[in-house]
Amino acid sequence: MAQATYSIRALVLRKTKLNESDLICTFLAEDGSQIRAVAKGARKPTSSFASRLELFSIDDLLLAKGRNLDSVKEARLVEGFDPLRISLEHTACASSCVEFLDRVSQLGLKSPMLFALAQATFTHMSASDTRKAIQLTAAFLLKALSYAGVRPSLAHCVSCGEDTTGYLEDANRMMHISYIEGGVVCDACHAGSDTVIVPAPMLSWAHSLLHATLDQIDDFVVDDDVSFALLRFCQTWARTHFSINLKSLNFLFTCALA
Ligand SMILES: [Zn+2]
Repeated sequence: MAQATYSIRALVLRKTKLNESDLICTFLAEDGSQIRAVAKGARKPTSSFASRLELFSIDDLLLAKGRNLDSVKEARLVEGFDPLRISLEHTACASSCVEFLDRVSQLGLKSPMLFALAQATFTHMSASDTRKAIQLTAAFLLKALSYAGVRPSLAHCVSCGEDTTGYLEDANRMMHISYIEGGVVCDACHAGSDTVIVPAPMLSWAHSLLHATLDQIDDFVVDDDVSFALLRFCQTWARTHFSINLKSLNFLFTCALA
């Protein structure tokens, strides 16, 4: 009986060696669900899959249903995002994005905003210098954490609901934040809460990145130390709510202009 096949558009999140010649690829499908499939022969230098199933690429795939894992029958490259593989810093930025998507996406769980966000982020990142690529990585992680259900509350106290946007506008202010409770804690509520103190301008940038489009973010100029503080904020947020330690982000901290 002929194998049942299906077509999807998908982003390559991870590649794992299966044996001498084959790979298992993890994809984020356009609907936001995760798909794993075998790419037979993809490790051979002569394979047409080798150049089409690079990390960060978007492909139109023809997949065949398998008993355990589906297999890739055909792959047509839609967007390769080659600049993301040229510099170490760009690769670390894009790797942080796909590592997060690999960890939060699930088989059969639809979340189409995640795919659209990744595609748009990689389009902008491909045309960016290192500084902007790091800024975009922070924006991606903040937005993706929100789509994954753990949006940080920055404009309201998580205990009493007080409007804290006034705090964000004070460049000299330090603010209390609770990672466990999910956001900012106002001055009246922080006693007894498990909070850390962070500078208001960092949270103000987080608020701006969360609410801006990527086109608007292209025009933002975030200081490098603030971008790195935002990435560390996202790292702790992901660890607290998903038990994820983003290794690519740790690598970015060691290799990029800090
Ligand atoms: Zn409060």
